[in-house]
Amino acid sequence: MLHTSLSELTALLAGHDAQALPVTAVQQAIAASIRPITETEIVPLKAALGRVLAGELISPINVPAYDNSAMDGYALRGSDLSDQAITLKVVGIAFAGHPYVQTVSAGECVRIMTGAVMPTACDSVIPQELCSQASETNVTIPANKIKAGDNRRLAGEDLPAGSAALAKGKLLTPADIGLIASLGIAEVRVMRRLRVAFFSTGDELRSIGQPLEAGCVYDSNRYTLHSMLLRAHCEPIDMGVVRDDPDSLEAALRTACANADVIITTGGVSAGDADYTKQMMARLGDVGFWKIAMRPGRPMAFGKILCDGREALLFGLPGNPVAVMATFYFFAREAIYQLMGALPQVQHVFSVNSAQAIRKKPGRTEFQRGVLSRDGHGRQLVTLTGAQGSGILSSMSDANCMVVLNHEQGDIAAGEIVSVLPFDGLI
Ligand code: AMP
Ligand code: MG
Repeated sequence: MLHTSLSELTALLAGHDAQALPVTAVQQAIAASIRPITETEIVPLKAALGRVLAGELISPINVPAYDNSAMDGYALRGSDLSDQAITLKVVGIAFAGHPYVQTVSAGECVRIMTGAVMPTACDSVIPQELCSQASETNVTIPANKIKAGDNRRLAGEDLPAGSAALAKGKLLTPADIGLIASLGIAEVRVMRRLRVAFFSTGDELRSIGQPLEAGCVYDSNRYTLHSMLLRAHCEPIDMGVVRDDPDSLEAALRTACANADVIITTGGVSAGDADYTKQMMARLGDVGFWKIAMRPGRPMAFGKILCDGREALLFGLPGNPVAVMATFYFFAREAIYQLMGALPQVQHVFSVNSAQAIRKKPGRTEFQRGVLSRDGHGRQLVTLTGAQGSGILSSMSDANCMVVLNHEQGDIAAGEIVSVLPFDGLI
């Protein structure tokens, strides 16, 4: 929850132009104001993907649990190796799950498969393709192909028993889920899911299934928000469309506060919108209305709503569909993860050549929609999706990345390097 007052928060933004707050300053102010929830729950391992680990996970066992072979080949005693070719007697065979349990003496070796337990006294494996001659009974190993200790995985080399396998706050990935399984752990304690209530405001909005009268638009924001919240593993509470009138808005905010940790609204925060929104939000809680130097997504309300002893974080996002997505991704999403107790999420921005010239005014951050592709030489480059208006949702749908043009940056020439933020990560 918010642990600073709005005046303290506003103080964090002091020194910046109130008409054009830099994106990074707003992100820092939001981050500085959030205190994570503390409630946790236990979930079965398969349900833990994307959830936030509630505490450090300690490995109860060595991984791997025993020394084993990294190769298909022959397990031998390193002390038998010399600077001459050697011939060893094959005394047995070890498969994964079927160890060779007798002792191996000097001059002997064991045929071994990847993952099989290293036989007692053996400390090295010669891969089968490096042997110069091999039969059921004897194998000849040329000089200097391996050193003692090669091709053996040591017990605990991945994770020693008692060591920290995963950090508190880790957002669990497929690799983490597999890692936890490799420790034999069936359930994990994660932070509880956040309840996020959201609604759209606007008299012009119609919901799917309603006829679209002249001058009306279908409400798409609730659908993008619902989807983005699912991706963030929140529990979405869809409160529908709320009319542009003070009583409806107040009732919606009160209900949202009673049921949710976070409230996200869209529309109604622009300069031209009725002042009652601001007055009411101010009355129900502690909310700032910010003009952010970004495109799309300039106006945004942020703060908390207090109602009947409960408090909920509020994001009043702009109405335009692309602005909703940009403000969600660059402000709300990180705040949601922080509230869930997740470690800070690093956004991996990388540099590529712009296939085209881009017009850009210094003094604001722009998030233009781009398509990453490769030219005939295999070099990666980015092209804009076309019209970049903040109402053009197809520009987000066509894109596979954001081209991030920073605050100071001016016009970009074709071929110049720009920063891009891909929409999809591998993991
Ligand atoms: P507002 O910020 O309320 O002035 O809205 C700005 C623009 O975004 C207007 O053209 C609205 O019609 C449009 N808009 C607002 N909310 C939605 C929504 N939920 N779905 C689609 N468009 C919207
Ligand atoms: Mg509106």
